[in-house]
Amino acid sequence: MTTLEWASAPERAVVTAALAERFERQVGRPPHGVWSAPGRVNLIGEHVDYNGGLCLPLALPHRTYAAVSPRSDDLLRLASCQADSVWEGTLDDVGEGRPGGWVAYVAGVLWALRHNGIVIPGMDVVIDGHVPLGSGLSSSAAIECAVAVAVRDLVATPTALSDRDLIAACIEAENVVAGASTGGMDQSVSVLAQDRYVLLLDCLDFSTTNVAWSVGDSGWTLLVCDTRVPHALVDGQYAERRRSTASAAEALGVGTLREIAPDELPDALGRLDSDVLRRRTRHVVTEIERVRTAVRALDASDVTALGAAMVASHASLRDDYEVTVPALDLAVETALASGAAGARMTGGGFGGSVIALVRDDATEGVAEAIARAFSDGGLGAPQFLLAPPSAPAGRDR
Ligand code: ADP
Ligand code: MG
Repeated sequence: MTTLEWASAPERAVVTAALAERFERQVGRPPHGVWSAPGRVNLIGEHVDYNGGLCLPLALPHRTYAAVSPRSDDLLRLASCQADSVWEGTLDDVGEGRPGGWVAYVAGVLWALRHNGIVIPGMDVVIDGHVPLGSGLSSSAAIECAVAVAVRDLVATPTALSDRDLIAACIEAENVVAGASTGGMDQSVSVLAQDRYVLLLDCLDFSTTNVAWSVGDSGWTLLVCDTRVPHALVDGQYAERRRSTASAAEALGVGTLREIAPDELPDALGRLDSDVLRRRTRHVVTEIERVRTAVRALDASDVTALGAAMVASHASLRDDYEVTVPALDLAVETALASGAAGARMTGGGFGGSVIALVRDDATEGVAEAIARAFSDGGLGAPQFLLAPPSAPAGRDR
């Protein structure tokens, strides 16, 4: 027997109570409140956000919590259970690329909200994250959105900040202050998700539709396997994919590849003169169509069709978009061979996580098979978690 490593999602009430106690010990008074926001996985629709496409993310039960109290001065005192030191400063210390490290994700949100004309007082903040960090499950959006919903409740009249304002501030914090490129899917789903629904996100105009996770009722669940393969070369590769799809769009005379309909694809491919551009284009156009297929499959509670779309998505990311690595392919193949109805890499690729659509009573067995395959292949132990589509950012106390 291989020992399996599970990242479980602790009860919200339990984490909230413990964090409030910790805040009181550390700060010397109870927090004004505790808020939290989820990490996410993307069910399907990968590498299409920057092509104006569609994606279908869902909120994890794994959340990041923020205990917060406003202060009477302008001091920010920020702490995290996942970081060693407490950061002290004011919003004057925050700007493009500063402060560095984890503080950027918290202070950056406050800084970005001030752009909306919101008067931000000093605050004591203590964070406790239960989204695995750096696994492609968006602990970064979780920490940002937890802080953003706290500020909305604390300092603004309820209508002063819309969900869109919060999402925009979190994206700005991550892009400008933390200096990480993010397209907005993570923040959107963390704020707009609904328990037991996946979120159809149209990256052209950021409109959203909640789609019921019907297959959950018939006993299917998403198993996430974090391969723990470090992302090497990711930034350069990511930039290259953005460049090549932009130049394919330009060569085809469209604003984004979203404008190419599936039945126009053969003609479009015939007009591109490089094999690489043809394959990148084919991925984007077919992937957007697979998102539509997945939505129809969920509407019809059709596990087979949903699984097939996931499998085709992975093949396209492996062969046409070339963003998988052997550990991702191995996890997908092993999941399918041990009973998953579908499996695919999720996130940017080059490492990170795989999702598998698995019967509720088979999750342990599929995880066991993947862990054994990794061990036999000389790879490090993966980490597993279960991802029933869960609730959005909100107040816990
Ligand atoms: P991902 O979003 O996939 O987890 P990122 O690299 O985008 O990976 O974000 C991870 C970073 O977010 C961490 O390195 C850290 O700076 C910050 N972070 C997320 N959660 C926490 C937390 N609970 N405490 C401190 N920092 C956090
Ligand atoms: Mg992130």
